[in-house]
Amino acid sequence: MLIDLQTTQSRNLIAELQSLGLRLADPGSGAPSRRGGAGPSDHKAVTVDGKTIMVPVHTGSAARSPFLARAAGDDGFAVLEREGRAVARIAFPPVPRYYALQTLDGIPYWKLATLHGRDVLATTVLQECIRYTNRRTRCQFCAIGESLAAGRTVARKTPEQLAEVARAAVRLDGVKHAVLTTGTPNVTDRGAAVLCESAAAIKRVVDLPIQGQCEPPDDFAWFERLHASGVDTLGMHLEAVEEDVRARAMPGKAKVPVSYYLEAFAAAVRVFGRGQVSTYIIAGLGDSAESILAMSRTLIELGVYPFVVPLVPIGGTPLEHATPPDSAFMRALLGELGGMLREARLTSAESKAGCGRCGACSSLSVFETA
Ligand code: SF4
Repeated sequence: MLIDLQTTQSRNLIAELQSLGLRLADPGSGAPSRRGGAGPSDHKAVTVDGKTIMVPVHTGSAARSPFLARAAGDDGFAVLEREGRAVARIAFPPVPRYYALQTLDGIPYWKLATLHGRDVLATTVLQECIRYTNRRTRCQFCAIGESLAAGRTVARKTPEQLAEVARAAVRLDGVKHAVLTTGTPNVTDRGAAVLCESAAAIKRVVDLPIQGQCEPPDDFAWFERLHASGVDTLGMHLEAVEEDVRARAMPGKAKVPVSYYLEAFAAAVRVFGRGQVSTYIIAGLGDSAESILAMSRTLIELGVYPFVVPLVPIGGTPLEHATPPDSAFMRALLGELGGMLREARLTSAESKAGCGRCGACSSLSVFETA
C-alpha cells in the first residue's frame, strides 16, 4: 500500500480527487458532508498527506469516481483505493464538538455555522439572495436556497447567534479563523452591512480572524466600515473572468462588470493590505486557462489573491450535470498560477483568514511551494 506520498504524488492525488470526486464505503465517517448552500458544496472534508481538502462526494461525477474510501479504522485512518488498488491512507476530520450545542431558543449550532476544512468556522449570514429568487438572474452553479429549503440552515443568522457559536467553536474545537459570506440582499451595499454587524458581534466575544465575502458595494467607504467592524480579509468573487462566460453562468451578478471589480479590488487592498483581499475563480464555467491566468496576473499586480477552484456541479442547480474540469487541466493551470504567486510572494500562507488561508476547495496552495 502507498502510504508516504512524495510531493508530486500528493499534489496530483489532491487535484485528481477534487476533479473526480470520491465514493464512500461508510458515508458516516468523520464530520458530516455538506449539501447545498452558498459557494462550493456537495463535498466532504478529507485529510490527504496532512492537508485537509474538500472533495465532492454527492455529485454525479463522484458517483462514477474511480476513488473509493474504505471505512475508517479505530485509528481514524481509511484506505483510499483507486480502481480497487490501495493508493494512500486518508483521514476524515471528526465531528466538531460544538455541533452538539443549541441556542436557548432551540436552534442547533450546526444550522448557524459549519466547520469547513480543518479549522474554519463558516456561515452564510443571509441565506437568501436577490439574484437567486429569479431563474433568469441566478448563478448557475449556486445552491444557496437548497439547504434552506431542506431545513438544514436558517434564513438569517443574527449577530448574537453567530457570536455565541463562534465562542463555542473556538473553545471546544480550536477553530482558527472564520468565513462570513452572504447572499446579496440589495444592489447598494450588496451585503457589506450585514457582514459589519456580524463581524463586530463576534469580535466582541472572541478574538477570531474573520473573512467577509460579498459583492463589491456601490460605495467603497464600506471597506473602511468592514475593516473597523473586525473584518480582517475580504473576498469579492469574480467566479468567471470572460464577460460572455459571466453573462451565461451568472446573469444577475454579471451586471456588475469585471472593470468595477478591479476598481473595488484596488480600493479594498488600500484598506485591508496586500494579500488580504481575494477572489474566487471557478475553473470549468467556460473560461480558457489563458484568460484565467491573464486575469490572475492582473489581480496579483493589484495585491489580490486569485483563489482558483475546480467547478463542483452541485445537485439541484442548472449545472448539476456539467462536467468538472479534468485533473490534467487543473494541474497545468494551478502549476502555472502557483509559480506566479510564489514569485510575487503572495501566497495563501500570508492570508490572515478565509478561503485563501483555508485552501480546502482547491489544490492551489500545494502548487505554491517549489
Ligand atoms: S476554501 Fe473557503 S469555502 Fe472552501 S472549505 Fe475552506 S473556507 Fe470553506
